[in-house]
Amino acid sequence: MNLLWLQGLTCNGNTQSFLCSEDPPVHKVLEGFNLLFHPALTYNRDVEEVLDSLLSDREKLDVFIFEGAVSDDVLYKEMTLKETVRELAQRAEFVIALGSCAVYGNIPALFREDISGLLYRFKVKGGALGEDFGKPVINLSGCPVHPSWLAYVLDTILRGGEIPLDEWGRPKELYAYLTHHGCIRNEYFEWKVEAKEFGTKEGCLFYYLGCRGPMTHSSCNRILWNGVSSKTRAGLPCFGCTEYDFPRVNLFKTFHVMGLPEELPLGVSKRGYILLSGIAKTFAPQRLKEKLIDEGNRKTPHKA
Ligand code: SF4
Repeated sequence: MNLLWLQGLTCNGNTQSFLCSEDPPVHKVLEGFNLLFHPALTYNRDVEEVLDSLLSDREKLDVFIFEGAVSDDVLYKEMTLKETVRELAQRAEFVIALGSCAVYGNIPALFREDISGLLYRFKVKGGALGEDFGKPVINLSGCPVHPSWLAYVLDTILRGGEIPLDEWGRPKELYAYLTHHGCIRNEYFEWKVEAKEFGTKEGCLFYYLGCRGPMTHSSCNRILWNGVSSKTRAGLPCFGCTEYDFPRVNLFKTFHVMGLPEELPLGVSKRGYILLSGIAKTFAPQRLKEKLIDEGNRKTPHKA
């Protein structure tokens, strides 16, 4: 299958993330595809020659991966980036918007009205391809996207499998979960034991330190980063980077209204939250309030 990977307004983060793919490694993910162009991986053809060939239908386009936001700036001959992307997307059998800039416009879209993702500008439908674009776009949101998420999509395409999508066009297999699912701090969350500072092993970061894990759809705690960890496991809040309203201001703080977090975990009512969190805090086990590893009493083992 012919695969084209094109970039728009991007920090290159999804490419960097993809290059770190370990399981499977990058060359295995791309096995079975004829990579026509990628800004960092191909060297034998320049982008204009590839675009010429695709847009004049001399070569067919099976999979079109677009990384970054789209603007009206000129890219290719007399065509704007937006026009070029539309032409390519119409020709491709599968279109993948890779990263939150390609899905929602994200950070670049904060600066100009004409900048958007392929199908959305934040939560407004339309985007660069327009509301009437006639085929599904596989939206892989994230800043950046985990390499295994892209590997799953490409592998499924190659095998001719189905990729069920959610209401935002994201694969359900990856985005039906919340960041909260699989976080090792779940017990602290349930008993309302707060983390006091960043980077510690104990406590939940939802109550004061800005964690959006309970309202963010991602597999970050199910498919671990570099195979070993995640932000919340390492003691940093989930910023909600897979959702349309990323980026937000003050990512390290939970805002409160009348003593309650401004946003509650998905599906939880105010009444339920007040009732349960009050009881949980009162009856939290003592062990959860103590350090997991008491550094002060650490004894250095010595040889006999
Ligand atoms: S740190 Fe975040 S993801 Fe982990 S349990 Fe707390 S709220 Fe959930």
